[in-house]
Amino acid sequence: MTSIYLDHNATTPVIDDVLAAMLPYFTVHFGNASSKTHAYGWIAEQAVETAQIQVANLIGAQKEEIIFTSGSTESINLAIKGLAAVYGSKKNHIITSATEHLAVLNSLSKLSKNGFVITILPVDRVGQIDLQQLKSAFTEKTLMVCIMHANNETGTINPIKEIGKIAHENNALFFCDATQAAGKVNIDVVEDNIDMLCISAHKMYGPKGVGALYIRNMQPKIILASLIDGGGHQNDLRSGTLNVPGIVGLGKACEIALTATWDDGILISRLRTVLEQRLTLLPNVFINGDIRNRLYNTTNICFKNKSAADIIKALKNVAVSNGSACSSANAAASHVLVAMGLTESEAQSSIRFSFGKSNTMQEVELIVEMMTKLYA
Ligand code: PLP
Repeated sequence: MTSIYLDHNATTPVIDDVLAAMLPYFTVHFGNASSKTHAYGWIAEQAVETAQIQVANLIGAQKEEIIFTSGSTESINLAIKGLAAVYGSKKNHIITSATEHLAVLNSLSKLSKNGFVITILPVDRVGQIDLQQLKSAFTEKTLMVCIMHANNETGTINPIKEIGKIAHENNALFFCDATQAAGKVNIDVVEDNIDMLCISAHKMYGPKGVGALYIRNMQPKIILASLIDGGGHQNDLRSGTLNVPGIVGLGKACEIALTATWDDGILISRLRTVLEQRLTLLPNVFINGDIRNRLYNTTNICFKNKSAADIIKALKNVAVSNGSACSSANAAASHVLVAMGLTESEAQSSIRFSFGKSNTMQEVELIVEMMTKLYA
């Protein structure tokens, strides 16, 4: 049985307040949010609207700009493919970076088979793109820039506001994958020049299988083609009976994140700092990512010359990740770390520790002890 959980970037537990908010919508308030003729439906509809407000408040949007999906993978597919379907005949160039999540890279790769031109910007040793290189990548055909807010493997935070500004100066839209940043970093879609943005409940103490997509409603109003057609739910953008309990959970998670971010940041980053200070005393151990600009809960550490199998064995009963957990079906070295210039072997020897609300200093001490034994 795993006793220390340090894989919060893969998924988080549902916290009590979120679960409590959701439960009535499985039982008492089980209505269909599209049922317009009775109170069961109205109550469900009202709960969905409240969640729209809670999500919008977290990111500085308007409630009408939020639609619900099954998670970030779906939101990303809708943002990219939905936009491409509407505007692709006029503009068929998209700019992204090499360290994006596979939901972005594989969606773009599919578009490239249908006449789209994709520019994949390289990153430096800490995972940052070069803004000058971004500026020179635009053509008159550039439709959008897809850059994540914070990287899931290293926590590296991108200069979002500047990227959005550059995209707008070049008449392109900016889609930002904020799956890992939401709830940990302040986001204001207007200030940050973001036109579309996705979040996922299960990365912020909400349930799995529910997420949201923000779609700017004005200046410019963005039109997307739906990927899922049916009864015309959510302005015909994403048909299907709404997952009301899940949506309520996402809304509540956003409401809590809005107030908890600051305290969590202070407590959790202390744990991370101690872990890093202690582990980097070991020989040939270094940190991957931008230590000046990172999510407070994430560290990615390379234990050079130690095999992934040995490290995982040493960290008995500790849940960590080697590469991206979201694509753990894939045993290859992390595309993020390789893009940052690590060798395949260094990437394989790198471990992501992602902290959460319930971690303790005692757990950090135990991990340091386990890793020190591996080097004894
Ligand atoms: N984008 C990033 C940065 C992620 O970390 C993940 C999942 O880990 C996703 C997208 C996909 O999210 P979901 O699990 O909600 O589909």
